Amino acid sequence: MKSLYGVIGSPIAHSMSPLIHNNAFLQNGMDAHYHAFHVEPDQLETAVAGMRALGVTGFNVTIPHKEAIIPLLDSVEDAALQIGAVNTVVNKDGKLIGYNTDGRGYVEALKEVVGLKDKHVLIIGAGGAARAIFYTLALEEGIQLDICNRTVSKSEDLIKEFSLERIARSITVDQAAKEIKNYDVVVQTTSVGMFPQINDTPLPLVSVKNHAVFSDIIYNPIETKLLREAKALGAITQNGVHMFAYQAALAFEIWTGKFPDTDRMKKLVEEHLGGKTC
Ligand code: NAP
Repeated sequence: MKSLYGVIGSPIAHSMSPLIHNNAFLQNGMDAHYHAFHVEPDQLETAVAGMRALGVTGFNVTIPHKEAIIPLLDSVEDAALQIGAVNTVVNKDGKLIGYNTDGRGYVEALKEVVGLKDKHVLIIGAGGAARAIFYTLALEEGIQLDICNRTVSKSEDLIKEFSLERIARSITVDQAAKEIKNYDVVVQTTSVGMFPQINDTPLPLVSVKNHAVFSDIIYNPIETKLLREAKALGAITQNGVHMFAYQAALAFEIWTGKFPDTDRMKKLVEEHLGGKTC
């Protein structure tokens, strides 16, 4: 019998997850189907019960359900509990187990372009995605993390909550812009610059450190204004397609035990968005 997988969220119509997962099932010769389910917050509990009752093998969870789903699951891995968000659920003999692959997916993708040991990293933003990324980056040996966010109290709270004062500090966006030449890696996690506000950028950029890496988790547009400017100043850049592919690949691996072809996933997303990944 065909195994069923899916994603629950709202909005969900433009999700690219069915595209990449259905292709990965095909590539791996698996008889499975992945479907996008539109679920409003007041229907989350019913939807999760439905997944359980129908024997859905695994599913992703996206905005706005990543936090609210936690109490509805049978167990949740420690990293997802710490991050406070689940984006992947596997149904193991009727038990729903939650994971978070956003942080790990991001860091795996980043390591394709830069080693992180002893690096000085700036994270721009302190929202949901930043939380998973900050938690996971902090596990890297010798890393030093600065976080700047429009609402400074949120970056301060994040550092306190994870007790990471030893390796992390909160700074203002102005300070980050002034000190930008100190950073080996700049990780952009805000929604600033996302379609349709493609001419916005989270901070002004006049120079970058030699060999600096600028990574933006936005994938629409494929190249944000920040990445364009950083590239023009000599930085190596990476867009959000890479994180998207890796978080999906890790979810696929949790469900099936197989790690899919991430280059193929990136290519599919890039073709769908009508551009080239960088
Ligand atoms: P979120 O929890 O709503 O956080 C939004 C962040 O953006 C906060 O830091 C917020 O600052 C900042 N922000 C929003 N509008 C701003 C503005 N006008 N000026 C300055 N800062 C602003 O959102 P999220 O879930 O973290 O998602 C953030 C972005 O990441 C989205 O573009 C999303 O598409 C992308 N994303 C990509 C992937 C991927 O796989 N590539 C995965 C997840 C998310 P305040 O705290 O001051 O409001």
